[in-house]
Amino acid sequence: MRNAFRDAIEELTGFQGEQKEIEGSKIRDIFAVHLSFLRDRSLRKQITDLVHDESVTAEFAVSKTLRDIAAHFAKLKDPYMRERSADIYDIERRLLRQLLGGKRHDIEQLTEEAVIVARELSPTETAGFNKEYVKGIATGAGGRTSHTAIVARSLGIPAVVALEDITESITAGDTVIVDGNRGIVIINPDDATIQQYLEYAVEFTELGHRLDTIREKPAVTRDGVRVALYGNIEFPDEAEIVLQKGGEGIGLYRTEFLFLNRDTEPTEQEHYEAYARTVEVFKTRPVIIRTVDLGADKYTQSRRYVREPNPFLGLRSIRFCLQNLTMFKTQLRAILRASVLGQVKIMFPLITNLQELMQAKMILGDVMEDLDEEEIGYNRDIEVGIMIETPAAALTASMLARDVKFFSIGTNDLTQYTLAVDRGNELVSTLYSAVDPAVLRLIRTVIQDAHKAQVDVNVCGEMASEPESVMLLLGLGVRKLSIASPMIPEIKQIIRSVTVEECNKVARKVLGMNSERQISGFLRDAARKILPEAF
Ligand code: PEP
Ligand code: MG
Repeated sequence: MRNAFRDAIEELTGFQGEQKEIEGSKIRDIFAVHLSFLRDRSLRKQITDLVHDESVTAEFAVSKTLRDIAAHFAKLKDPYMRERSADIYDIERRLLRQLLGGKRHDIEQLTEEAVIVARELSPTETAGFNKEYVKGIATGAGGRTSHTAIVARSLGIPAVVALEDITESITAGDTVIVDGNRGIVIINPDDATIQQYLEYAVEFTELGHRLDTIREKPAVTRDGVRVALYGNIEFPDEAEIVLQKGGEGIGLYRTEFLFLNRDTEPTEQEHYEAYARTVEVFKTRPVIIRTVDLGADKYTQSRRYVREPNPFLGLRSIRFCLQNLTMFKTQLRAILRASVLGQVKIMFPLITNLQELMQAKMILGDVMEDLDEEEIGYNRDIEVGIMIETPAAALTASMLARDVKFFSIGTNDLTQYTLAVDRGNELVSTLYSAVDPAVLRLIRTVIQDAHKAQVDVNVCGEMASEPESVMLLLGLGVRKLSIASPMIPEIKQIIRSVTVEECNKVARKVLGMNSERQISGFLRDAARKILPEAF
């Protein structure tokens, strides 16, 4: 412990020396505050007393003591004093780094298995995790359908989000179980719990092996109704995994991930290469490329001149594209060029009215003309569809249907906009549910209107990846689902175990219920009877 303090002081004094030349540097003042903390004998005594009195590790004692102090600062009225809590967290990190020495690694350079515990992780940070070592994720912020959770699901890493103050409850070195299926995290479990979870893990692996055997079999109900199962991807590398899991194409390619983790926009060639790689995997099977859905949680607000007060209601998605035509046209050119390689379809996100759709289609027409002039080949009959993810689009589905080939219901956004619940806000995460009666009524309307207009309808929100929702969706008339690749085998197994008649009954029953709790309980019980190992 003494060494950790000594080394931290030495490290900081070194940094302070380097800052000497900078006139009026605030950084030096900050270092001075940190140094005075580290030299404070009473602080050191408080930590060592905790180690001796409670037989805890030095790392735990450092974290606990400093976090208590930080929490105290965070509650103070004076804004200057409140901000000091960040300094205390900084000191904690510095001391932990000294204490853990070689044991503390950069996340990207992990060499041992670990659980990542964080207040917040961005979708791009999560996408960079090596799943060989990152065995679980627990975050304070977020929601089940926030993009960080979606990326973790695509990678097949168990994740539990919206745990609010989890970072204050877990200390480096703790043993942690992350149970993504049940949405719970167990800190320092007893031997019996560890044993129980080791058994679950075996059962789950066995289920995986069992489901591998249906990989080549079609997703067809017991009474012979065929369901198409597609995969959702964020990166072209994932296309191969979708295929391995038995997916029949890509129902949602979230292309905005091409923009993340970089400061410049992708070039037309970069777009094209990513699409060509994906199409190559599926050859003549469908690949639905969604035009960029930047904004909200998929765009760093810090890049904007003016921060938006309500980014989810702001300049996101198709609205952003329609105001950034050069960028939009670059992507459309690349999609059209890739359309000659296979069965590519274009999908516009977050459409809220017919004008927006007509505008997007007009720009697509302009890009086609440009390609004609340059004598560059593309599929002139490329199918164009839209995502139905706002109540406005759902309620006007019959009007929108006249100008598209297909709908894809984005239940993640549809739920947040219908219920007025931010999908990434942990404080309201219990209010967020795709099986709320209000959301289900909109989904039913869209499916009925699509059938009437003979427009294809697919569901690509996370609801389609949840075993509990499959019977309901089939009962509502859906025959195409696009889901996270790790979930394809389980969802296929459920489809192969039920009849459409049973599903219709489930849907009828659910639509007669008036509370979300009743509906979710009923659906869980119904699905558990079919695939108990998944729960
Ligand atoms: C959705 O909103 O349901 C959807 C599939 O799109 P995303 O999750 O990328 O917003
Ligand atoms: Mg969406």
